[in-house]
Amino acid sequence: MRKQIHNIYHRVLVLLHLSPLSLAEKCRIAFGIAVLLVLLLALSIPYIWMGRLTEKAALDAGRAKADLLFRQHFQQAKTISETPGTAGIETDANNPEICWIDFTKQDENQLQQLTDSQREMIEFLKNEKTRDDNTLLEKRNGVLQSSYIKIFRATETYQPIAAVVIQKPAGGISQTIFMNRVWIIVAGLIAGAGAIIAFYMITQRVILRPIRQLRALANNVAEGNLDIRSAIKTGDEYEKLADAFNHMLDGLQETQQKLRQANKQLDDKIVELSERNIELFKANKLKSEFLANISHEFKTPLNAILGFAEILREKPEALKKDKARRYAENIITGGKNLLNMINDLLDLAKTEAGKMKLHIEKTTVAGICDVVVSSLAALTRKKKIKVKLTVDDNIPNLYTDAGKVQQILYNFMSNAVKFTPKRGRIEIRAAMMDEKTVRITVTDTGCGIAEADKEKIFEKFRQADGSITRQSTGSGLGLAISKELATMLAGSIGMESEPGCGSTFWLDIPVTLTKEQEKQPG
Ligand code: ADP
Repeated sequence: MRKQIHNIYHRVLVLLHLSPLSLAEKCRIAFGIAVLLVLLLALSIPYIWMGRLTEKAALDAGRAKADLLFRQHFQQAKTISETPGTAGIETDANNPEICWIDFTKQDENQLQQLTDSQREMIEFLKNEKTRDDNTLLEKRNGVLQSSYIKIFRATETYQPIAAVVIQKPAGGISQTIFMNRVWIIVAGLIAGAGAIIAFYMITQRVILRPIRQLRALANNVAEGNLDIRSAIKTGDEYEKLADAFNHMLDGLQETQQKLRQANKQLDDKIVELSERNIELFKANKLKSEFLANISHEFKTPLNAILGFAEILREKPEALKKDKARRYAENIITGGKNLLNMINDLLDLAKTEAGKMKLHIEKTTVAGICDVVVSSLAALTRKKKIKVKLTVDDNIPNLYTDAGKVQQILYNFMSNAVKFTPKRGRIEIRAAMMDEKTVRITVTDTGCGIAEADKEKIFEKFRQADGSITRQSTGSGLGLAISKELATMLAGSIGMESEPGCGSTFWLDIPVTLTKEQEKQPG
């Protein structure tokens, strides 16, 4: 039986486990069934026992009554022969029916008034040595009757001498048994209801509330809110679970952070790469432009050199002395132009390779400027350009690489001459910027530089007009090299210009270039 109950309970649990009910509903159903089964088992014992106790109480009451009667009827008697007893049915004034059977009288009629069950019980008790009374419950004429039957024995011989049957309606007993059972069931129902209410409260507070909190937390996380944390402080497994959950969220957040950083780095790299790509594309375009320009710049003086040299070779005697000298000068100018360009390229290659060396020496600004002005005097004269040189008196001696300063100023000056129209003006001015820095400025009244070109002219191979059809000559390297050289001298170059009004280029350098200030161009 117990095994069967256990099996049923187990099956119900499996069904509950598979059903789509919520945890709370499953718990309530499982616990409800468990409580019912336990109560059924527990109450079945008092249920059975109460019946038996009631019957025993009836037996005890009958026994007491019979003993009383026996004492009344056989008070003086010592043996059966002396017994002044009466046989037959006596009707007690207060009910119940009492029936005396005197075995010594051998009167069969005595037993006729009894029921079959009562007679059988008397026969049984007569032969039974261990007990001499019992109760019987049976229906007579539709009424439930209880009978108490007792055998009396002779004191010495132990022979049955008489029996008494006390019978009365059993309504009281069965009602008592019924009421007992009703109360047991009521008690069971109250206990069951109490247990279910207690269980409901416990599951709500101890089990389901933290689970609901955890579920709400998980839903929040699923919606992407990783900042949320569980605040369950129950001190039990739920708190440990919540801590583990929080720990997991910390890890998740950290990983997400790292991922975000990695993504950002990747994005930056992509941006950098695309910028490099654009730079590469521009550099490639510049390279092609430069190659076209440089070959054009090389070809012009080379063609001139070859042309004049061929004339000199073919008819040297036919040429007048003056003409021959002019041709020779043209050859020399073309050669110098070529040499300048090749020197520019070499300088650029050297600065880029970091092989340009500095030769610091004592020099003066005026000395450097004079050299530059006089080296371009032929050209300025030719273009009737007025050159003015102003050097402030307070400029001390310089300790720097004079050759490189000269190279930068020569580039400024040659550009000024190149881009200034005939009868224009060029002014070279040197003044102290502060105690340690001197500024040398070259101002012209040339064509000026458009706003859009101001940045790019300092880049390598860049010219304001990069096309082959441009009017002026040049490789587009002069300002780029000047910028690199100025950096080496711990200085800088800059410019201001207004298209159509002229340009001003300047060089700022320290008066004394120390070893620590020396820099390689980047
Ligand atoms: P280039 O050998 O072509 O002169 P530079 O680097 O010296 O190379 O100059 C770059 C460009 O800057 C020139 O091609 C020109 O367009 C512009 N530039 C430089 N100096 C001047 C100036 N004084 N007036 C106008 N444009 C100038």
